[in-house]
Amino acid sequence: MFNALLLEKQDDRTTASVQSIDEARLVEGDVLVRVDYSTLNYKDALAITGKIPVVRTFPMVPGIDFAGIVEESGHVQYKPGDRVVLNGWGAGETHWGGLAQKARVLGDHLIPLPASLTTRQAMALGTAGYTAMLCVQALERHGARPDDGDVLVTGANGGVGSFAIAILARLGYRVVASTGRASEEARLRELGAADVIDRSTLSAPGKPLAKERWAAAVDCVGSHTLANVCASLRYGGAVAACGLAQGMDLPATVAPFILRGVTLLGVDSVYVPRERRLDAWASIADELPAETIEHVASEIALGEAVDVASRLLQGEVKGRVIVDVNR
Ligand code: NDP
Repeated sequence: MFNALLLEKQDDRTTASVQSIDEARLVEGDVLVRVDYSTLNYKDALAITGKIPVVRTFPMVPGIDFAGIVEESGHVQYKPGDRVVLNGWGAGETHWGGLAQKARVLGDHLIPLPASLTTRQAMALGTAGYTAMLCVQALERHGARPDDGDVLVTGANGGVGSFAIAILARLGYRVVASTGRASEEARLRELGAADVIDRSTLSAPGKPLAKERWAAAVDCVGSHTLANVCASLRYGGAVAACGLAQGMDLPATVAPFILRGVTLLGVDSVYVPRERRLDAWASIADELPAETIEHVASEIALGEAVDVASRLLQGEVKGRVIVDVNR
């Protein structure tokens, strides 16, 4: 038996509770992992609260990521005792995910944990840290360089935003953080932001083109914010778009693309190929010092996840939430 947060559907309503589950119910996958830590991502909060139908089949163990130790393996690349991490691939959406003491998954979906990271640090980073690195790598593949000018990060106090600031600053970029929480300015500057702006300057409907301001951007917010970011990118600039915290819509015009050669780079962390994952995790391990990783994270027990999920959707949680599934 193992403990898991289980989501069930009752009369069109999602219920969530910690339950003791028989290991025999873990059927999919060729690797059994003893989970040390999972996390609470925005998508997990949507799944747990049932606010948006993230979960495709019930009952479901949510948790789009986890880090732990291989217990049993039928996969050639893994043996008992190996330290592994998983992000996405439908975990917590189409098959049981990481908010549990055990997970059975496809070995092809696992990544060996870089030697310098503990399983706790891996989940302090979680899908947010890894997505932030995918965004930065997308910008750099596009040709972004630190001396091009300011890089904007929206949703700055969130998990992706916080790590994007830290990674960009470590790489030498001058980072401007956009946030709705001015009270967190000192924290954002500690992470590496050179400047902090109020997100309301970007969140209302704007003009097709605005003053050229940003050499590049990481957008966690979508909607009018992303439209305004596109409108205020400098000629040839690019935005790595990964989020929808303001909304899934994109009320933009083609003007920035056809008049300023701006590029919109979509970033998906769930089904991104394995090579890119390995590269992102290796770069994270190289770039981010342990203090920064810890600085961004707080820890909760499995039983607290439901309450914290609601607060996360209210925008009341800052940084990353690690879930210790064993307490
Ligand atoms: P968090 O909830 O930790 O952070 C989101 C941040 O967005 C908040 O902290 C807040 O920042 C800002 N925000 C919230 N509501 C609004 C609003 N109405 N208008 C403008 N800004 C708002 O989420 P994550 O950092 O984990 O994820 C960020 C986004 O990226 C989410 O939409 C998530 O679903 C998405 N995501 C996508 C992935 C992918 O594969 N593409 C992977 C991981 C995440 P502040 O308080 O500073 O204003």
